[in-house]
Amino acid sequence: MINNLNTPRLMITTGRSLPNLSRGDTLDPLHMSIKTAMIARHINKRPGQPPWVKWSGLRRRASRHHGNPRFPNDPLASASCRLWNTSGQLVRESESVLVTSQISVQRHTPVERPWYKDEKVWYQTVLFSSLSTEEMAKIPRKERFMTHKYSCSSMSTRRKPTGIPREQFAFEYQPETDQQFANALAKARSDKRLTIDDGIELLTTGTDCLGIDPTRKEQVLEAADRRREAVVGDEVTFIANLNNNVTTACNTGCLFCNFKDRSEKFRSANTETHAGFTKTPAESRETVTAAATRGIYEVCSVSGLHPAFALNAEHREILKNSDRNDLNYRPPDAYDVNPQTYTDQISAMNIDGVHVHSMTPEEAYHAKRGTNWDYSEVYRRLQRAGLDTVPGTAAEILVDEVREVICPGKINSSGWVKAMEASAEVGLGMTATIMYGHIENEAHRIKHLDRVRDLQDRTGAITEFVPLSFVHQQTPLFERGMLEGGATPDEDELMIAVSRLYLDNIDHIQSSWVKYGDEMGLKMLNCGADDFMGTILSEEITKRAGGGFGQFRSFGEYVDMIDAIGRVPVERSTDYTKRRRIDPASPPFGPTIAPRADGTPMLN
Ligand code: SF4
Repeated sequence: MINNLNTPRLMITTGRSLPNLSRGDTLDPLHMSIKTAMIARHINKRPGQPPWVKWSGLRRRASRHHGNPRFPNDPLASASCRLWNTSGQLVRESESVLVTSQISVQRHTPVERPWYKDEKVWYQTVLFSSLSTEEMAKIPRKERFMTHKYSCSSMSTRRKPTGIPREQFAFEYQPETDQQFANALAKARSDKRLTIDDGIELLTTGTDCLGIDPTRKEQVLEAADRRREAVVGDEVTFIANLNNNVTTACNTGCLFCNFKDRSEKFRSANTETHAGFTKTPAESRETVTAAATRGIYEVCSVSGLHPAFALNAEHREILKNSDRNDLNYRPPDAYDVNPQTYTDQISAMNIDGVHVHSMTPEEAYHAKRGTNWDYSEVYRRLQRAGLDTVPGTAAEILVDEVREVICPGKINSSGWVKAMEASAEVGLGMTATIMYGHIENEAHRIKHLDRVRDLQDRTGAITEFVPLSFVHQQTPLFERGMLEGGATPDEDELMIAVSRLYLDNIDHIQSSWVKYGDEMGLKMLNCGADDFMGTILSEEITKRAGGGFGQFRSFGEYVDMIDAIGRVPVERSTDYTKRRRIDPASPPFGPTIAPRADGTPMLN
């Protein structure tokens, strides 16, 4: 056990009064991590250093020095501490606590421990406590910045690691706050609007330690589940829909994506075989028509940015006559298959009253490249062609320092927000997403939620929020060794839960079985989610990234699964305005909401 009588405690002996810590306070070693270290580091500031330098500033400075041989032992701040055990005996009066740059700490890594990789700050904080006296003696005195001892292995069993590759990226945004977990949880329970600091505390289960605290996690999940119940009750919705991806041709080069194929492969001159595809509008129509007879309500269409795509004939003329060479345009006759224009594709899918859910902000940008049209002009024209709502994908993480790494060829986060605002302005409903579990940390995730909440405050057009856990197996990010895996199940649960708690202006949170699988997907319905996606019928994007959870769900499967967890299965329309509760005792189960749906099961 860590917290026994022989466990030393840290007492703050100098410094001014702090929000949650006063002179003379003792701290439980379990909570002796980022915040404590940060506070200690700021007490005796160096001459000329501004008071209460932000931890992120220190971290930035440290990371600038990271790997720089000119700054092997850079002390950034210091404080005096005394270590007491819980029975009040002075264990040791410490020398000045010195904060050194990460490189000097790393250089003295004595042994590889499982939590080193994952929990960098723990590593920084407790490293020297795990050294023997002889090893300690080898370290220059100035570099010893922590002298208390406690059991690191016990620490790691209490906190569960995350999949965040913290040591690989020196981001400005870090999960550090002036809030405490208990306060953030109390706010969440009392339905108060959460701040970014609150969100980070909940998502990390407290920044006072790294890793996920299982007890606190359950508290967050419970708060989210209660909120879900209060907002939408016991219904679990799903939709009869079809995915119709038009083309995999794309040169944008996002590092998280294995959906695309370089467009060169699609050129008539190319003789190399490839697994990509492009559909003509006639083929899209055929696919949607077949699904409409099965009773789908919605066709969802998200595609690669094929260089031959233009918004319409007018746009094609502009692209054809442009002398710019940065427009990623090539005329359709250069390719085996002509996808024609975006409006042609939308018109083709707009049949039999099927709801067309398409044209992400990234596609809208592609549909206006080389023109001075604004996004509302583009969405208005698409709406006239039959577009009903816009999927808020391509959002990834709405923080540019992350986008610059994972998708530098894409529009930035402000561009994404601008496009979504424009689609709302012309009267199109929309969804919003987050793709998490790659290189970003918890601060980025909450910053993303904050942008979405802000967008919803201004537009009111977002019908659902969809957290998408990154599927890494066959993506360049994984293949290039930039990360080792995706989010852990704990992180997935917390992402759903905190989305529910943070997004107090969006009613519906989706659990994606394509990303999580059935078992985990169902679990998410008890963590704050209330929508269970759709029948899909065909799924390419996750499958090509290595996802193995299948490509369709029948109504029968939906009803069985939702009933099994004691909730009410409900068929819905895209915008949730049409809903039908399904009685699990009255099979067979098929869609009824769409114009051509008559209750016949879509799939056997
Ligand atoms: S995510 Fe979209 S834009 Fe990026 S490479 Fe893949 S298909 Fe292209």
